[in-house]
Amino acid sequence: MGRDVPARVIRADAWIVGGGIAGLWACARLRAAGYAAGLVEARALGAGQTIASQGIIHGGMKYTLGGAGGADSKAIARMPERWRAALEGRGEVDLSGAPAVSPTTMLWTLPGLAARVIGAAAARALRARPERIEAREAHEALRGAPAGVRVYALPEPVIDVARTLGALSAGIAPGTLRATGPGGVRVEPGSTGAALGVPALGLRLEAPCVILAAGEGNEALLSEAGLGAAAPMQRRPLRMVMARGDVPELHGHCVGASSTPLCTITTGRAAEGGAVWWIGGEIAERGATMSEPDLIAHAQREVARCLPWIDLARTRWSTWMVNRAEATSPGGKRPAGPVVREVAPGLVACWPTKLAYAPEVGDMVLEFAARRAGKPEGRDAALDDAAAALGGPHPPVATYPWDSEGLTWT
Ligand SMILES: Cc1cc2nc3c(=O)[nH]c(=O)nc-3n(C[C@H](O)[C@H](O)[C@H](O)COP(=O)(O)OP(=O)(O)OC[C@H]3O[C@@H](n4cnc5c(N)ncnc54)[C@H](O)[C@@H]3O)c2cc1C
Repeated sequence: MGRDVPARVIRADAWIVGGGIAGLWACARLRAAGYAAGLVEARALGAGQTIASQGIIHGGMKYTLGGAGGADSKAIARMPERWRAALEGRGEVDLSGAPAVSPTTMLWTLPGLAARVIGAAAARALRARPERIEAREAHEALRGAPAGVRVYALPEPVIDVARTLGALSAGIAPGTLRATGPGGVRVEPGSTGAALGVPALGLRLEAPCVILAAGEGNEALLSEAGLGAAAPMQRRPLRMVMARGDVPELHGHCVGASSTPLCTITTGRAAEGGAVWWIGGEIAERGATMSEPDLIAHAQREVARCLPWIDLARTRWSTWMVNRAEATSPGGKRPAGPVVREVAPGLVACWPTKLAYAPEVGDMVLEFAARRAGKPEGRDAALDDAAAALGGPHPPVATYPWDSEGLTWT
């Protein structure tokens, strides 16, 4: 696009930058409420954190275990039911095309008294009571657990992340643009409102509400607009571990004698077939400062300790670095909940902190839209026409880490 060609202007009630869980959910809520809302994605939907997440819709279990009760665990306790409603097609967004991979998350203990005591204490402290179940009723990987291992089913669904991103984006396309190439997206704050420049598409996107939901990308967008200090961001690195081969299905946390889960394992499907364990929890926290070979050796020992009855002889292992991007919090700790912060008139930056909090981000964005854009006028069709006239390109859903090219499997 030449310098002297004026940008084509598309006006909407809201423009969102970033198509991870926060941006897509917020866009779907705005559309459902009748606002003309569009979204611009730089790479692929969910690239960054969402596609790397373990897909557990936490209801507070982990935080109770970690001793972080209070307001945080009360707010998060409401999230599983909102997600369940969406997954069953009776909620605020329609995820009926992306059924949960499991209605529950498992919690199991190492054999031994201390772990059993921890498991029982956590179970008592929870609002949504986990149900103690027999190993034979649990996910496949736990069915061979010896008698000394306690197994609980937590009412926390595990979602199919890629299908969830696909279902959300299907509900809001057209109106979803992919802005790769030189210049990407530029935020243009103003005294009465903000706009977005998309030089590669020759577009200027205007709206009373501009929402930055670009995860880690928020930092550069804000600093290029001179707003870095208005909403500082922190990164908390993780090095996740993957094991593929003959692994049985499992979605859950193993607790030992300490209050933090020893590991959290969820199970994905590889594009070329077969199952993959996606391993996080304490292993991934510690892994952030370890070399890949050291981490794989450590993870193999820890997983063998948590699941000694599983034969891991025919598995291949790899790792994946990813940063959690959040609003800055004192001491670099995880923020207590989602953050949606107005950084300039009509411009907010948001970080959900957890996938599970997407519904809460949606509420906060709707409040912002009601304040800035007033009652929706149902101009959705005009926005769709404008976006459709561009002929795409529409962003694809990101690839799961284990299907990425260039991984070394050992
Ligand atoms: C390993 C891991 C496991 C996790 N597991 C869980 C879990 O089990 N349960 C849970 O509740 N939470 C979990 N989380 C947290 C959760 O994944 C995140 O809080 C959430 O996905 C963040 O979503 P987001 O939409 O803000 O960001 P992202 O998912 O990072 O999405 C940002 C989007 O913006 C796009 N983008 C970036 N820059 C630009 C730009 N300049 N212009 C346009 N687009 C841009 C990116 O391509 C991307 O699509 C986990 C996180 C990690 C890292």
